[in-house]
Amino acid sequence: MNIDLKYFKEKLEAEKIKIEDELKSMSIKNPRNQSDWQATYPERDLQDKIEADPTDVADNIEDYQERYALNDVLENRLNSVREALRAIEVGSYGICKIGGREHSIENERLEANPAAATCINHIEG
Ligand SMILES: [Zn+2]
Repeated sequence: MNIDLKYFKEKLEAEKIKIEDELKSMSIKNPRNQSDWQATYPERDLQDKIEADPTDVADNIEDYQERYALNDVLENRLNSVREALRAIEVGSYGICKIGGREHSIENERLEANPAAATCINHIEG
C-alpha cells in the first residue's frame, strides 16, 4: 500500500505545533501561571470564599480539574503525534503491529487520525 508520507508528515507537524501551543496557553505546566493560580486562591482566601459562596469555589476547582484533564489528553495526543513522526523517520509509519503480524493501516484510518498506530480492526478501547 502506498502512503503519502510527506502529506501525513505535514499534517502531523501541524498538529504537533497546535498541541504545543495549546499546552503552552494552559496554566498547569507553566510555573509562572501556576503560582498565579495559587496567588488567586491562597488557603485562607479559599476558606473565606467557601463560606461566602461554595458553588463559586466549586466552579473554580472544577475548572482547574477540567484543565488538568485536558492537559493530560493533550499530552497523550502529543506523544502519539511524536511517535508517528518518529515512525515516519524510521520507515515504520502506517504499520499496525498488533496480532504478531505486521500489516498496513488503512489510508482512511490515517486520514481520520494521522497519529494512528493501529489499523481499524485493532483500534484500542
Ligand atoms: Zn491491525
